[in-house]
Amino acid sequence: MQSDTIAAIATPPGVGGIGIVRVSGEAAFSIVLPLFRRPGGEQTLPPSHQLTYGRIVNPRSGEVLDEVLVAFMRRPHTYTREDVVEIQGHGGPLVLQRILRLVLEHGARLAQPGEFTLRAFLNGRLDLAQAEAVMDVISARTEAGLQLAMQQLQGRVSARLREARQTVLGVLARIEASIDFPEDDIPTPHADELRPHMLTARRMIDELLAGAEQGRLYRHGLRTVIIGRPNVGKSSLLNALLRSERAIVTPIAGTTRDTVEEVANLRGIPLYLIDTAGITPTDDPVEQIGIQRSRAAAESADLVLLVFDCAEDFTAQDRQVCEELLRLGFGQQDKMTANGRAGRPVILVLNKIDRPRSLPLEQVRRFWPEAPLVMTSTLTGEGLSQLEETIANLVLAGKALQDDSVLVTNLRHQEALRLASQHLQAALATLEQGLPLDFVSIDLQAACHALGEITGETASADLLERIFSEFCIGK
Ligand code: GDP
Repeated sequence: MQSDTIAAIATPPGVGGIGIVRVSGEAAFSIVLPLFRRPGGEQTLPPSHQLTYGRIVNPRSGEVLDEVLVAFMRRPHTYTREDVVEIQGHGGPLVLQRILRLVLEHGARLAQPGEFTLRAFLNGRLDLAQAEAVMDVISARTEAGLQLAMQQLQGRVSARLREARQTVLGVLARIEASIDFPEDDIPTPHADELRPHMLTARRMIDELLAGAEQGRLYRHGLRTVIIGRPNVGKSSLLNALLRSERAIVTPIAGTTRDTVEEVANLRGIPLYLIDTAGITPTDDPVEQIGIQRSRAAAESADLVLLVFDCAEDFTAQDRQVCEELLRLGFGQQDKMTANGRAGRPVILVLNKIDRPRSLPLEQVRRFWPEAPLVMTSTLTGEGLSQLEETIANLVLAGKALQDDSVLVTNLRHQEALRLASQHLQAALATLEQGLPLDFVSIDLQAACHALGEITGETASADLLERIFSEFCIGK
């Protein structure tokens, strides 16, 4: 257990109905109790895990800082497994900061980002994968993303990882017993005895790996850029896709003047839709800035919806947009990106089909012979669900999320699993070659280490710091 007592505002910055100052550690009760005045003047510790009404008072000056409800929670049934006090005050930044300052003046230390959750991990309440899931629960954008994060928080992912790790450890134990105690006549295990267990472990790891791309898609979503020359209906398409979604739509903070970014829900995948000002060259310096931004947006996109106006001819500007996209490497469906996701696909959207058609399809096809093509009208809504279907098919390859799906959603976990799988593969190859079991054992140890980094058994201090520093203060 950590010796010092930490404190932070646990609710988001800004104004709210209530705000919470959280205090955790050995001295949590003895720091807060003298600052807390109840109507009857009682000074004893209230019952654990109950809200008690009173005021926070500066004991030196007698000044009342706020009217509050306070929960004193005795370890171990707390978030950190330490004594925890939560002070519920009014949700204004100034009033909460003053309460926090008073708590700090009386012996607590300001908590680092993620330090409450770090303590929960260090005190064994959560493993590392579960601790990371706390962040995912908070930042989930869709029901599906939330479902996967909850599975991970409840330890479903960890249970599978632990099973695989135990299996490898079992094999290691048998090998090492025969190496360490040959004089005790522990027989050298035969390859046939070890192989099935190693294969089982590898199958478990590979199963988790197989779902990881899909899992990451649900967690991170898909950056989808809507591109096309002016007036083809990009903004209308963005709005139509946002309207047609059935759950959460949230505007993203920091939207620029020239690119609008919002998140729609495509069958549980957060679809980050970016409407661009256009990527065709221009001489106008103001527009130039917009173009640079949309080019940057396009470069970081996973998917492009390339929009044309069905009711007009294929213009020189249409051609320029197509050329620019090809230059940026889009539409090469078989090319793999750095993160291993397949291709950077383009979907052709022929908009305004409610009007008479005059766009020559062969001109579009000359640039994009194989890209999926959908006809839409943002006016009548026609073709929009087909567009959603096309996107889903492209990225999910027909694998829908089941209620009980346990998917790895975290890139760090995915990389550790890949490493573990490679080491197991190497161990199996060494076993088949009939080399001494010491060599098999080296790779098995490396596989165990990689798996342990996910749940935290073998995570270094550096790794922990890196992970928890991404948390917000107060979590
Ligand atoms: P953007 O410049 O590409 O973003 O295009 P907008 O979304 O601003 O649309 C340009 C114009 O086309 C607007 O007047 C829209 O109302 C109209 N528009 C967009 N989609 C459709 C459609 O499917 N059918 C018809 N008839 N008009 C559309």
